[in-house]
Amino acid sequence: MQMSSYNTTFIFFAFMLPSVSFGQSHVAMESTQSENLFKRVPPPTMNDAATKAEYKILRGRIDPNSAGTQVLHNDKMPTNEDQPGENFFFAAGTDGGCLEIDLGRSIAVKQFASYSWHATTRAAQIYRLYGAVGNEAGLSHTVTRETDFAKSGWSMIANVDTRPESNLGGQHGVCITSSDKPLGRFRYLLLDVSPTETDDAFGNTFFSEIDIYDADGSTTSPIAIPRSSHLAFTAADNKYRFIIDTTDALDLRDWCDRELRPIVQTWYPKIVEMLPNDGFVAPSRVELRFHDESRMLGNPAYASGSVITLNTQWFRRELKREARGAVVHEMAHVVQSYTQNRRNARTSTPGWIVEGIPDYIRWFLYEPESKGAEITEQAFASATHDSSYRVTGNFFDFLMRTYDPDFIAKLNSAARNGRYNSNFWMETFGKSAAELEKEWKADCRQKLDQSKK
Ligand SMILES: [Zn+2]
Repeated sequence: MQMSSYNTTFIFFAFMLPSVSFGQSHVAMESTQSENLFKRVPPPTMNDAATKAEYKILRGRIDPNSAGTQVLHNDKMPTNEDQPGENFFFAAGTDGGCLEIDLGRSIAVKQFASYSWHATTRAAQIYRLYGAVGNEAGLSHTVTRETDFAKSGWSMIANVDTRPESNLGGQHGVCITSSDKPLGRFRYLLLDVSPTETDDAFGNTFFSEIDIYDADGSTTSPIAIPRSSHLAFTAADNKYRFIIDTTDALDLRDWCDRELRPIVQTWYPKIVEMLPNDGFVAPSRVELRFHDESRMLGNPAYASGSVITLNTQWFRRELKREARGAVVHEMAHVVQSYTQNRRNARTSTPGWIVEGIPDYIRWFLYEPESKGAEITEQAFASATHDSSYRVTGNFFDFLMRTYDPDFIAKLNSAARNGRYNSNFWMETFGKSAAELEKEWKADCRQKLDQSKK
């Protein structure tokens, strides 16, 4: 099997490629956002030829948070996309590295497969795969970034790049085979690994498992991958990354995947757009996690920084009612980012504004058809502009409709910059909050009277 003549560089960008012929080897690459969904790449297996092999790092450094190379052939897969201790990866900020697999003797390699899993840029795999029997003239086990492997006794087997155009995260699987015969006879296999990006220090792939099939070996059996309790996805061209951690609410995982994920993907970027400030950058990584009711102090949900905590029992009860809207409300808090601003932390925006803006967005933009923030006859007498939550949301809706469709953006901007004070109303509308409240209540009264007719 001669592979050394095929050293052209192929870069594959497609998200799900058909099998690509690389010389005589076929490289099937696949990435998926949901585990266990590989269609063309076989699942990882146990008792393959790599299980008992020896792994050596010929170039590069292992990351201190990485597991050792043993995880690459322990026949175990991580259970979610953020498990550094279950993956092998080269050190942060470094230029990848070289990994040598010594099978102990030369075998007819039928197939080579590699698996990785991460929420974002550490999911994709970029490497060149080389092989050697061991008796090649000048075969070198000492390599640098500059090593010309073809001149150092190594045969090129395949050139792998699984980076998709978008949605980098998820599980990536690579399977290298030759159509009708083994890839070749090899004792040593060498992966020359590159980082997937150098925009930040975290471009080195989370490799989970490597499988090598001996053409003359016994049959292998697939590894069962436990279902992940974490859902990882992105929005707005990978600008925003989300994790939903359902460890404490596994029964809600499918609902989150089906119902909540699209709402988060659509509404988080929308809310960011709705609430701008010069130079403000909204949190780009948001985590939603479920906690047992006993840890929630009676709250259905709350946001702290870019983490949204959800009350498991409350969500179970409200799946068909308030659950989705509550998440929209909390996402608005993440975008408000009021506590990130030191000046605001000192002046402190009144709570009824902090809660009124998310409830305006939720009840009047996200789910207007629910009419959940209408002022009822019962609530009318006690409703004030600063009653907070949905009552204040209703007041804000009145101002948006009557005076200024940019009002929410202006109010939020002042609040986020720590510049909100009671003069805001006079400066914005030429009227005091009390005067505006009177107009709003007259409008509410009129609507109530109309509805009785
Ligand atoms: Zn709130």
